[in-house]
Formats: sequence, C-alpha cells, structure tokens
Amino acid sequence: MHNFFYTRANSIEEAIDGIRVDSAAKYVAGGTNLIDLLKYNIERADVLVDVNHVEVFPDAEQMADGCLRLSAFMTNADTAYHPLVEKKYPLLSEAILAGASAQIRNMATNGGNLLQRTRCYYFYDPAMPCNKREPGSGCPALNGYNRMMAILGTSSECIAVFPSDMCVALAALGAVVEVEGPSGQRHIPFSEFHRLPGRTPHLDNNLEAGEIITAICLPPEGFSRNYAYLKLRDRNSYAFALVSVALALEMDGECIREARIALGGVAHKPWRVPDAEDFLQGREATPGNFAAAADLILQGAQAFEHNGFKIELAKKAIVRAGKMALHPETHLPGAQPPSFENL
Ligand SMILES: Cc1cc2nc3c(=O)[nH]c(=O)nc-3n(C[C@H](O)[C@H](O)[C@H](O)COP(=O)(O)OP(=O)(O)OC[C@H]3O[C@@H](n4cnc5c(N)ncnc54)[C@H](O)[C@@H]3O)c2cc1C
Repeated sequence: MHNFFYTRANSIEEAIDGIRVDSAAKYVAGGTNLIDLLKYNIERADVLVDVNHVEVFPDAEQMADGCLRLSAFMTNADTAYHPLVEKKYPLLSEAILAGASAQIRNMATNGGNLLQRTRCYYFYDPAMPCNKREPGSGCPALNGYNRMMAILGTSSECIAVFPSDMCVALAALGAVVEVEGPSGQRHIPFSEFHRLPGRTPHLDNNLEAGEIITAICLPPEGFSRNYAYLKLRDRNSYAFALVSVALALEMDGECIREARIALGGVAHKPWRVPDAEDFLQGREATPGNFAAAADLILQGAQAFEHNGFKIELAKKAIVRAGKMALHPETHLPGAQPPSFENL
C-alpha cells in the first residue's frame, strides 16, 4: 500500500484547502470503500483529508421550501433512522437498510455512498486490464464472466454497474446534490450526478476537481404512502443487488397521479425513464400497466453472455414493486417478506 499523509478538516473550507495541496489528495469519510481500494492499490492517494469532523449543524434540516437537507457527512445509519426521513421518505430508509451491514452503515456516510466505486470483479483485480482503472487497457467483462454487469447504458469500453442502494431511492425521489469546491457552490440534480461509461468509464460522476459533497436535498414530495424498495440478490443479506427497484406512487383513488421508478444493479448509474413514468400517469395501478411501463424501461436493454436473466428479472421486479407499493404495510420492519412466487 502506498504511503499517504493524513490531515483532518474541521470545516468545508479546511477540507477544500486540504485537497488543493496535492493533485493526489482525496477526501476520506467512513473509509469503508476507499480504504479497501487503497489497500488493493486500485486507488492511490498521497494525502487523505478526513471529513468526518467537518462541523455541520444540524445533520438534517427542514427547509422553508419544504425540502429536507441531509448532511453529506451524516452516516447512512443515522440517515435511515432519522425521524423525518422515516416519516416523510420511508423509501430512502428502506433502500439504505437494504444495503451492506449494520456495522458498515454505522461508518458509511451519505457523501461516500454516492461516490462508492463499482463492484466489477475485473476492476478489483489489478492483475486484469480494466478501462475504469486504467483507461485504454481493455474491458475483460465484455467477453468474460459478466453475470452481475450492466444491461442498460453500456459502452464498448465498460459494462460495470453502480452498486449503491441508497442512490436508487435518491434517483426516484429526485434529490439534488449540493457541492462546494474551489470555484464555489453548485447544485446538481441527481439524474445528472452520475455518468454513463461512454468513452470515459474512469469517470463515475460529474464532480469537478476538489469539489466536496456537502448535502443532499430531498424535494417536499416524499411519496410516504405508496412506495417500495425491492432488492433482488444472490443471498438475502449482505450482498449487492443483481436488480433493485425503487418505486413510488402518488395515488388518486385507483389511478396513479404520479409515478417514480428507478432501477439499480442494471447500469453505470441509477436508471430512470421519464416516458415510463408518464405512461403510468392517470392509469390504474394494475400489474398489466406496471408490466407495460417495465417494457418501456427495459427497451434497448442489451444482454451479455451471462446476464440475460437480468432483463426478465428487472421487468418482473417492477411489477412486484408496484404491487408492494400499494401495500407498504407488507414491507415494514417485522412484516412477512413478500413471497416471490411470480418472479
Ligand atoms: C462488505 C461491503 C458490503 C457493502 N454492501 C453494500 C450494499 O449492499 N449496498 C450499498 O449501497 N453499498 C454497500 N456497500 C458500500 C458502502 O455503502 C460504501 O462503502 C459506503 O457508502 C461509502 O461511504 P464512506 O463514507 O465509507 O466512503 P469512503 O470509503 O470514505 O469514500 C468513498 C469515496 O467517496 C469520497 N468521498 C467521501 N465523502 C465525500 C464527500 N463528502 N465529498 C466528496 N467526496 C467524498 C472519497 O474520496 C472516496 O472516493 C458495501 C461495502 C462493503 C465494504
């Protein structure tokens, strides 16, 4: 492991100053992803700027415009169990709690969650080429073991998926990411925060050099009545999603007034298709309508040798999540897990 200097920032300004001193400086928060990557020599840093002591108060702030502003330095556990998040944005709580383990969620922060790297096996194996790790070296996943890889938005350079659960819910909710850097502050809509691989798979997101994530703003509409986060994986805990669905509805009697659907585990970023959400608007919340929306979402999906099953799995998961969203009491803590007979 490459040696690095450690420095602790007590404010946003100190953090940005700390990162400016060296082009190979990085922020570290919970360290649950970055430290592993440094140990494997997949990432390299000369300086680590610890942002865990940046003073921000309060952790979660109800804004006058109805938005809820969450600190980027708050842990995933504190976020999931925050009374305002549980009450107004239960979809976000549910998605966070579907991820990792209690110990990791106690360390991991909101900012770090947005910037976690892919879990592609080839990316984690420095003995293999990888365009994401070493641009221009190749992508062995294309013709290799690609069971967990992407089916949407892929490129000939990279088919890795973004592994976060939390971000799938943030995409569905239409969150906004607040960042600050050497050139000032800006707000990035969640749909524009992460990138597709294209010709630059080494870039996961649209942050500029030195920028720090300071907060995540949740819009006033939290979809707290009808929502579901369905995560499908090889084992029922402590595993990354093969496919996940964050689905939220605002109902008007039997009809859908507004629908939000985001998929995880299928692309280089959380996947949302506004046309499919528009299709559901004004229609009844029936399995047939969810299936038609699923067809729109999966339009253009491309299977590789080992991951064709994901296309059908994603379609069925959307229908299932639609049913679950109509009965959120079936997926509250302590409730019987939904049966998977139709999946
Ligand atoms: C065994 C294991 C299982 C896991 N399972 C899941 C799972 O099922 N679902 C899931 O969603 N996640 C899972 N995770 C990933 C986990 O959620 C992430 O590791 C965690 O969210 C990263 O947060 P962190 O604060 O530890 O980030 P760090 O590791 O400290 O940092 C990650 C990256 O973010 C940057 N960074 C951190 N904070 C900021 C900031 N405020 N501004 C700018 N840059 C910043 C760092 O420079 C680094 O590049 C798992 C992790 C492990 C180790």
